[in-house]
Amino acid sequence: MTATTTPQLTAADRCDRCGAQAYVRVVLPVGELLFCAHHAREHAPKFAELATEVHDETDRLLEEHGAGAVR
Ligand SMILES: [Zn+2]
Repeated sequence: MTATTTPQLTAADRCDRCGAQAYVRVVLPVGELLFCAHHAREHAPKFAELATEVHDETDRLLEEHGAGAVR
């Protein structure tokens, strides 16, 4: 965990791949990416090597939409 006060993701934050609500923010040396739970999982192997910070709120998705939404 980092000690930075990263703002919470909101409904206005959208996945860069599909436009769904973003639940994961990936901070890279060159900028940042937002992903929905689906695409965060899909791209995790790539960005895990590059990311300086990963802000993951997919737990919130589970609470709000149930396990079926995280696919
Ligand atoms: Zn997506």
